[in-house]
Amino acid sequence: MVGATNQTLRPFLWRAGKLYPDREIVSRTAEGLERYTYAEYEGRVARLAGALSDAGIGDGDRVATFCWNHNRHFETYFGVPSMGAQLHTINPLLPDHHIQYIVENAKDRIIFVDPSLAPKLAGAVDGDAFASVEQFVVMASEVPDDVGLSPVTDYESFIADHPDEYDWPDLPEDQPAGMCYTSGTTGQPKGVEYSQQMLWAHTMATLPESGLDIGAKDVIMPVVPMFHVNAWGLPFSTTAAGAKHVYPGPSPTPEDLATLIEEEGVTMTAGVPTVWLGLLDYLDEHDADISSLERIIIGGSAAPKSVIRRFDEEHDVDVLHAWGMTEMSPVGTVAHLKPGMEDLPAEAQYEKRAKQGLLAPGLEMRVVDDDGNEVPWDDEEFGELWVRGPWVTTEYFERPDANEEDYEDGWLKTGDVVTVDEDGYVQIVDRAKDVIKSGGEWISSLELENSIMAHDDVAEATVIGVPHERWQERPVAFIVPKGGVDEDALKADLVARVEDEFPKWWAPDEVVFIDEVPKTATGKFDKKVLRDRYDDSSLIEGKTPDSEAPSDE
Ligand code: AMP
Repeated sequence: MVGATNQTLRPFLWRAGKLYPDREIVSRTAEGLERYTYAEYEGRVARLAGALSDAGIGDGDRVATFCWNHNRHFETYFGVPSMGAQLHTINPLLPDHHIQYIVENAKDRIIFVDPSLAPKLAGAVDGDAFASVEQFVVMASEVPDDVGLSPVTDYESFIADHPDEYDWPDLPEDQPAGMCYTSGTTGQPKGVEYSQQMLWAHTMATLPESGLDIGAKDVIMPVVPMFHVNAWGLPFSTTAAGAKHVYPGPSPTPEDLATLIEEEGVTMTAGVPTVWLGLLDYLDEHDADISSLERIIIGGSAAPKSVIRRFDEEHDVDVLHAWGMTEMSPVGTVAHLKPGMEDLPAEAQYEKRAKQGLLAPGLEMRVVDDDGNEVPWDDEEFGELWVRGPWVTTEYFERPDANEEDYEDGWLKTGDVVTVDEDGYVQIVDRAKDVIKSGGEWISSLELENSIMAHDDVAEATVIGVPHERWQERPVAFIVPKGGVDEDALKADLVARVEDEFPKWWAPDEVVFIDEVPKTATGKFDKKVLRDRYDDSSLIEGKTPDSEAPSDE
């Protein structure tokens, strides 16, 4: 027996439009705040679907976005998948060669792009890689001068002549609805596809208390970018609940966030730790009333205990620490306290809440050691976390090589090394993947190494991630120079080379000259030895992260 209709996104849109027609969607834009209701939203989404259909977009075609968090981007979230196409959100912070690979691999037909990101996209456009792209649509009411993209139109003209209603199709559950690329240890980024059913299941899992506890009364502001796993699914969950949306627009500062919380009555927000450290520091220095804020979902990197404590003690805000992955739509665990734990001393509660938390209902997990045996839940023995469930992917898009590495018997091998305590709380203790996550964005140590090692004066080089208070991790390069080389000149050369090939925030914070890279018994670079040697962050202590941060690129 099966249900009468499929598990798709369409009923969420219908419900919000019909049951909560007056709830608002508010968006910070370059021109100021924009606001309208779900009733208007539903109409605009229908117009977008009509426009896409007229542009020849049909079942399974990919439509991409290159955008920050705002209302028009949110319109594509329902408009594109509900008319049968697949929404591909591109991360604009990636190096140009990754963007080219991604667009070519996904065969995107239309790209929606923010005015402020148009120069970045125009710089990445390459005839061959962009051969599938038929048009660009700028997310504005007019196309800026010298936009450098062609053919191009503006969003308001694109949707203008279409009706406020659309005859939404009945889609199968396995219809591809979303797509997002994730950076791998080796090779090119990997495409992750979300079906209608996966997004439906993830949405339903996030609503109850055991998920992210979202209701109609909430006012939800996703600071996590909408190009990162659909802003952790929050635009869908917020709509399903009939809650109010607040979008912080391009590159919001801590002041922008505090103002939006105060003026719009935000009850819940979400993002990587770096964002919340910035907000805490801002609140230390400024008077802002954030008393409407009840909770912050922190994920993407480990939420520091000090941040959880400061929000609780200084602002009476609960931090819900969550863990997930692009491959998991993304929510996997949430660090809720179990009944009775509220009576523990505050420090013991922070201890629990700083762990990655309890598996979300609907998922299954196992933690396996190198021999494939499950490790006991004793808070000590560790192994790799494997997960499976209705919103966990089982393969990458056209990447059999990566499938072999990351999936086994229907399980996703997360690459996160964890312990589990007696209460079932998962804690990440290490990462098996050789990548660096800085301010919520991946940096490929391997690509940096390849670039550095291509320099004539370098004998050997390796790059590791070193803990960093604000960015969680920063890259540090270790170089063995060839004999007789001027180290200062080489260092300057290497920094210039890296900044030329990659986004500026990929550049190592330090270049350290050493005599030899430590090796394993099999002759591979032993990064663990280097990491252990430098895990006190002494190398980059006192260094002020500059404005070349991921979010400011
Ligand atoms: P992404 O696919 O970019 O979302 O990255 C997923 C990876 O980010 C996970 O496999 C973890 O390594 C890391 N990650 C995500 N959430 C957390 C968290 N709460 N604590 C520590 N690491 C995290």
